[in-house]
Amino acid sequence: MPITLALVAHDRMKPALAGWVARHAAELAPHAIVSTATTGATIRAQSPELPIRAVKSGPLGGDQQIGGMIAEGEVHALIFFPDPLTPQAHDVDVKALLRIALVYDIPAAFSPATADLLVKGGLLNGPAPAPG
Ligand code: PGA
Repeated sequence: MPITLALVAHDRMKPALAGWVARHAAELAPHAIVSTATTGATIRAQSPELPIRAVKSGPLGGDQQIGGMIAEGEVHALIFFPDPLTPQAHDVDVKALLRIALVYDIPAAFSPATADLLVKGGLLNGPAPAPG
């Protein structure tokens, strides 16, 4: 059953996320992807075959849009690579996105290694989670 996966990365982590997506492109293909604007453009450049719905850039409200989609049960998993070494102007939005992912207990990964484990664990093979 297809799921909707949210993909977000801070600037220095975008190449890592685009690489992760390219490595998993075949497994991701049946699923829906939503991404913040600049992350989505970076992924699209490397994996143009994958349809990606883009919301606003993270600092302009995109993180909040994805958080809202998690709350509405429209996003079922989050792959988010934050930059641990660079202060973010929109840090409150970043924290809010992490918090809402925890509130709704969706599968979430914040590093390539953990994202790989989610895929190996069947994230993209299982039934769609119940909404909300
Ligand atoms: P971006 O937003 O993909 O538009 O860069 C991500 C973020 O910084 O939260």
